[in-house]
Amino acid sequence: MERLNEALTLILCGRLRQQLIVDAFTCLQEVRLDYIRLNQKTIRKEVLCGLTDAVSRGDTTPASIGRRVVLPSSFTGGPRYMVQNYQDAMAICRWAGPPDLFITFTCNPKWPEITEFLANIPGQRPEDRPDVVVRVFKIKLDELICDLTTKEHFGRTIADDKPLTPEDIDRILCAELPDTEVDLIGYEIIVQSMMHGPCGSMNERSPCMEDGKCSKHYPRSFQETKTVNDEGYALYRRRNNGHTTTKNGQVLDNRFVIPYNIDLVVKFQAHINVERCNKDRSLKYLFKYMNKGPDMALARIEQAREGNNGNEAQNNQEQVIGEIQNHLKCRYVSAFEACWRIFSFSIQYKNPPVQRLTFHLEGHQEVIFEDHEHLDDVLERVGAKKTTLTEWMTANRMYPEARELTYADFPTQWVWLSDEKRWKPRENGNNIGRIYFAHPASGEKYYLRLLLNIVKGATCFADIRTVNGIIHPTYKEACHALGLLDGDHEWHEGLVEAATWSTGPQM
Ligand SMILES: [Zn+2]
Repeated sequence: MERLNEALTLILCGRLRQQLIVDAFTCLQEVRLDYIRLNQKTIRKEVLCGLTDAVSRGDTTPASIGRRVVLPSSFTGGPRYMVQNYQDAMAICRWAGPPDLFITFTCNPKWPEITEFLANIPGQRPEDRPDVVVRVFKIKLDELICDLTTKEHFGRTIADDKPLTPEDIDRILCAELPDTEVDLIGYEIIVQSMMHGPCGSMNERSPCMEDGKCSKHYPRSFQETKTVNDEGYALYRRRNNGHTTTKNGQVLDNRFVIPYNIDLVVKFQAHINVERCNKDRSLKYLFKYMNKGPDMALARIEQAREGNNGNEAQNNQEQVIGEIQNHLKCRYVSAFEACWRIFSFSIQYKNPPVQRLTFHLEGHQEVIFEDHEHLDDVLERVGAKKTTLTEWMTANRMYPEARELTYADFPTQWVWLSDEKRWKPRENGNNIGRIYFAHPASGEKYYLRLLLNIVKGATCFADIRTVNGIIHPTYKEACHALGLLDGDHEWHEGLVEAATWSTGPQM
């Protein structure tokens, strides 16, 4: 955007330039959404049972089914994308145990890389150049991830060994001002980046204040030693040792320090909040905004037409427009986010990769069909369809060693070749599997999924229903025979599973 010997009009436009960047990004998204709108028939999937139902009702064309406009999970940032990645993250946690540390890394517009670049044109502020700020942040973020993973700053990150004991975490984390005599550099950056407030009685108008109290619970109380309170939260050591600093004319002491790791803060010269995870809650906090949805309000003024009130018109319109419209309705894009996305920087990253496993009742494979296809042809094509589930059974028939694993654990030692539609033994890499979620109200599908998390070595669907040599007619009865549904057990299981990913109101 910035070229020697060229006018700087575009760069010097201030807020207008931010608007331009946001517009450019929304244009890009609009093109992608247009593609999705125009290709609904290839995107839209229906389970085969849905199709057969439609046949029995006398419908002959698939066009009558699934009139919904689907925003597929491949659309980055869309609701289905978020849900899928959230479930993947949960699968990693189920496999590896809950996370140890929760780290937040915030960009520092005063970084020398940014200020030096901005100084090229007098009067430029960081908000005038989201393109520069975003690139510098990306470089630093990659460096931080490299420090944490490859360089093992906190120990090994591959979750199968658990290096962090409570003592380790005490050594890593701190919530006190460094001694200026011992570590002046550390003290300066902590004062600059890691002090909360002033808030409370010192500053009633601080953004963290809600109902006269600090929503982040600052100032914390002094602690001579580290303890864990009744709710499992770690209370870090915050001694009343006279170390203080001044911020906005107010004196702040150890009670206002945001927990940090000194090495990271000094190296990156930024706000990097490192906290020990409260195992039960931190996961949901990670995805809190996905679960509760964005804070939004939509107002609309409409002229009521005769014989048709405004509400109805709105409802009808929504039914047709569907998921794309719902996504756009509450979208907020900042210039920084727009730049991040225009540069195609990823908005999430996870390791090890998670393989999503489909599952279905016998003969109920998912199919893709087009409006003009005749339903009989669709059904015929589906008859021979191989899925990861049917081929898991095939592998069980062919390889004795395959029979040691449940379906969900299969990707840990086997690789799915999607072109050849078969599993082969894994030679390298690491992968974990998860079976798509089934709602408890989905009947047999739900019970089949319960069994697939337990059963090993099944070679056909009947095997999955076989308990102690008896083939049960339904998956539910097999679950009964295994004692999975005894008393309230079924509901306990369902609640325990849902509790790992949903929030109170959802349950
Ligand atoms: Zn506060």
